[in-house]
Amino acid sequence: MTRRRAEPFKIKVVEPIAVTTGDYRSQAIREAGYNTFLLNSRDVYIDLLTDSGTSAMSDDQWAGMMLGDEAYAGSRNFFALEEAVREIYGYPHVVPTHQGRGAEHLISQILIRPGDYIPGNMYFTTTRAHQERAGGTFVDVVIDEAHDPRSRHPFKGDVDLAKVRELIDRVGADRIPYLSLAVTVNMAGGQPVSLANMKAVHQLCRRHGIRVMCDATRCAENAFFIKEREPGQAGRSCREILKEMLSYTDGCTMSGKKDCLVNIGGFLATREADVFQKAAQMVVIFEGMPSYGGMSGRDMEAMARGIYEMVDDDYLSWRIGQVRYLGEQLLQAGVPIIEPVGGHAVFLDARAFLSHIEQAHYPAQALAAALYLDSGVRTMERGNVSAGRRPDGSEYFPKLEMVRLTIPRRVYTDRHMDVVADSVIDLYRQRDRIQGLRMVYEPPTLRFFTARFEPRGGMLANP
Ligand SMILES: *Cc1c(COP(=O)(O)O)cnc(C)c1O
Repeated sequence: MTRRRAEPFKIKVVEPIAVTTGDYRSQAIREAGYNTFLLNSRDVYIDLLTDSGTSAMSDDQWAGMMLGDEAYAGSRNFFALEEAVREIYGYPHVVPTHQGRGAEHLISQILIRPGDYIPGNMYFTTTRAHQERAGGTFVDVVIDEAHDPRSRHPFKGDVDLAKVRELIDRVGADRIPYLSLAVTVNMAGGQPVSLANMKAVHQLCRRHGIRVMCDATRCAENAFFIKEREPGQAGRSCREILKEMLSYTDGCTMSGKKDCLVNIGGFLATREADVFQKAAQMVVIFEGMPSYGGMSGRDMEAMARGIYEMVDDDYLSWRIGQVRYLGEQLLQAGVPIIEPVGGHAVFLDARAFLSHIEQAHYPAQALAAALYLDSGVRTMERGNVSAGRRPDGSEYFPKLEMVRLTIPRRVYTDRHMDVVADSVIDLYRQRDRIQGLRMVYEPPTLRFFTARFEPRGGMLANP
């Protein structure tokens, strides 16, 4: 008999959540323009919109919140954060920012000149937007397997070195200020990058004088996959593995709202004194003093403590295990999902799920709306709507058209995962009843946040 395992924590505080009726949800999703981002959270039963800023903090983090030193300059909580980053990430210089995109803004403005190219293992929405605002062009250098929902490659986030070499040959290394290396790769489905690949990327880039900037948002979860899957790594701690991973990079941008187990915060870290100096000059204009960036003292303290908690092997094993527990229930029922199951989310393959809806009619958006209608579970679209438009106005039509069921850290129990699985499986059995959508309002950038839709006819779903 395989023994079952449970959460490596117990519950100290609870937050009631709303149980609603199908009629109620039908009105709520219509008022939200069939965009789950526009729903009110009070109307949501299980919120899998994002793992960003939705973590439950520990009692130790909450205790740290009471030790906030809200001095305008030189807060002791900044030094705690700086020490945590030095110890766990290994970067000497840290600039706090209000969240990850604050750090992306700084590094893009500091390093990118108009006409530059920034290779990356798949785009991320805010990352690419900041690169483009700085005059750069993002170039995807992730391995082809990342774009194939059926591929079971163990490290689907790996960089394709041949694609990097090809770019260097085509535009020249001096037009490439850095390679943007994401671990894990969010848009590929939370897929990890191997240690061997990170090392090879580092060596290739160093030969050409190109920096490697890590998007370290989910770096601890990546370390767990390396421990589990990469030959020779099983005996090491995630903490050790993470340190080695980041030793192959020159700096990072970090959204503390993911792996750092806090509700707000982020930072830019670097090994380079001159990059740090420029960031410290710039952060005062856009965020705040270099010793707080966009954060309060108490938030920096919570993040500093979260950094130590995020590399705990038992926590990581449970965390990744819970995501996998949901994914495996769906797989057993034949629901098409991105395989292997990634670190922070289960991704439904909306093209396969709703093969009767063409991509121009936003199948993933329609599926997310139908899932809310069915059970009050809120998810998000990661497909044609998220990909947006090219500078020439045409849609990207990405290969992956997905609905993301993102699991907040330490928030829901496995029983909640059962409820989610039941709803997705039921919907899959009645998938013919789901129709596509028409976009009726489209904002100019990051359209997925606020776009509005109408059903193309008939019922979206009839719970
Ligand atoms: C969330 C995220 C960001 C941006 O961070 P914010 O804290 O939301 O500004 C950047 N990269 C990745 C991979 C992310 O998931």
